[in-house]
Amino acid sequence: MILLKSKADLLMLRESGKILGKILKALQKAIKPGITTAEIDKLAEDLLLSEKVLAAFKGYKGFPASTCVSLNEEVVHGIPSGRVIQDGDIVSVDFGLNYRGYFSDAAFTLGVGKLDSRVKKLMAVAKAALSEGIKQAVPENHLFDISYAIQNYVEKNGFSVVRQFVGHGIGRNLHEEPEIPNFGMKGRGPVLKSGMVFAIEPMVNMGTWECEILENGWTAVTADRRPSAHFEHTVAITESGPEILTRDDA
Ligand code: MG
Repeated sequence: MILLKSKADLLMLRESGKILGKILKALQKAIKPGITTAEIDKLAEDLLLSEKVLAAFKGYKGFPASTCVSLNEEVVHGIPSGRVIQDGDIVSVDFGLNYRGYFSDAAFTLGVGKLDSRVKKLMAVAKAALSEGIKQAVPENHLFDISYAIQNYVEKNGFSVVRQFVGHGIGRNLHEEPEIPNFGMKGRGPVLKSGMVFAIEPMVNMGTWECEILENGWTAVTADRRPSAHFEHTVAITESGPEILTRDDA
């Protein structure tokens, strides 16, 4: 069942998303060559404390950190560590928080220093694919209109969408129904209604869509070890269209 949020729920989710957007912006500023992925996580934790909100990921199914930081060929669920970010890396940060019982979830990929032009294109396409998906998050559309829009945009641009990980409903829980794949046929799936809130999150690979999980049991990498980019927003479906709750560009 896809839960519909009340006006009161939406007020809380809006606040949750606003705080998350603000923290993401601060993290983006801090990511530079020489910083470790654990330092990014530490900064996120400090910002959670100063905003008086809780981490959503830490301890979730045993995940050991507040952020997922995934570099280059890592797709999602990178575990922060002493690894130093180098010039030319692309850094994906996925981060969720819990504001008084209301969750928000978002991710961005940022390039550091001098980047290969194909890598730049990968990031731009992944970001635009998220926008394409969000445009379809309107009442009376079908769920997989979102999925189709993302897949179509990505494949048209010569990249691939990950199948193994998907977006999700979000609200009083980090993960709610439905699952939102980044591939699918338009006109299929449940009909969208005002009051649904989704975390839409394309993961876009330069080469094959296939992924493998590293020995730590968490980190997904591309099977061909070519780079991957990830963007995510928490989005409310409203009568007046999709409302992005986790804006980091305000
Ligand atoms: Mg998510």
